[in-house]
Amino acid sequence: MERDNLLKLMHRKRHLKIGLMGGTFNPIHYGHLVTAEEALKQFMLDKVIFIPSGKPPHKTTGSLASTEDRYLMTVIATASNRDFMVSRVEIDRKGRSYTIDTLRYLKDIFKERATLYFITGADAILEILTWKDPKEITNLCKFIAATRPGYDISRIEYLKKKLFKDADDNDQHIFLMEIPALAISSTDIRSRIKTGRPINYLLPESVCNYLLKHELYK
Ligand code: ATP
Ligand code: MG
Repeated sequence: MERDNLLKLMHRKRHLKIGLMGGTFNPIHYGHLVTAEEALKQFMLDKVIFIPSGKPPHKTTGSLASTEDRYLMTVIATASNRDFMVSRVEIDRKGRSYTIDTLRYLKDIFKERATLYFITGADAILEILTWKDPKEITNLCKFIAATRPGYDISRIEYLKKKLFKDADDNDQHIFLMEIPALAISSTDIRSRIKTGRPINYLLPESVCNYLLKHELYK
């Protein structure tokens, strides 16, 4: 079903620019939404696909809401934006979730008909570039790295130069994107819920209602 929806996107245009917003979304908040919207507009993307992770390889499961809850909160948060979609690919995949598998899956659907832009915050891009085969990943997609309060983007410039020093299109793999600074994180939201501090205005009200109703992160 999802595959069909993705294939349908290609009926409208010869070549698509697709943004991929991966995350735990535990829970999704305005930092994620602003980042996706800015990437959509600044890079003239046709769609942004939010991809909630299954079992994240790097995260401890301590206060991790179920995959279904994280998926539903992502759907609720993005429902009103016609350019946002949510994919179940990582949620439905058995075993651990790796971005590289997701990129291969999407590449197989879109083939050469789309350019994939993996959208991340400054913290996540630094992690990705230290993976074991960052070059294979950069063959499958380009990166849009958004500024995020508390993370130094000068390291990105350094890693970019180091990784792509031999490529003549050095500058075409990783794009830095300035966004309005939002010092919001899911970790902080979870800790606020635990300690009874307010979370209003950090995330969409509908998501806030969902997590209160289901007593998540208590
Ligand atoms: P946690 O605190 O649980 O790690 P998080 O707020 O970092 O959650 P993730 O789901 O880990 O959210 O992040 C998904 C993606 O969104 C990552 O690429 C991350 O860098 C980016 N991101 C999250 N919050 C922001 C923000 N406030 N500004 C810019 N990018 C962000
Ligand atoms: Mg994070």
